[in-house]
Amino acid sequence: MSTLAPVVRHLEQQVANNQLAAWVRIWVWCQANADDHGHARAYTGELRRLLDTNAREVSRAIRLARERGVIDPCSTAACLVLPGHAIAPCDAHHRGAA
Ligand SMILES: [Zn+2]
Repeated sequence: MSTLAPVVRHLEQQVANNQLAAWVRIWVWCQANADDHGHARAYTGELRRLLDTNAREVSRAIRLARERGVIDPCSTAACLVLPGHAIAPCDAHHRGAA
């Protein structure tokens, strides 16, 4: 078992924690799921199910996380990107570089 397992478990608990603002849960999910290049791919509807909300609220949460600088401006519902990892290889659709 990875020594990171408890950390990942806590992150997953926080993603499910509806006491937290949606943009925080999006950010935490990105940290828990980002690959070695800092990209966290999401299946269609995955973030909506995760947050138990609608697509509009997911878009709003992603926008707020982008505005706060905790995810890269290129992030979309298809792929959330940790700050500074926009140029990493990824075939998901991203917003144009800011
Ligand atoms: Zn990506």
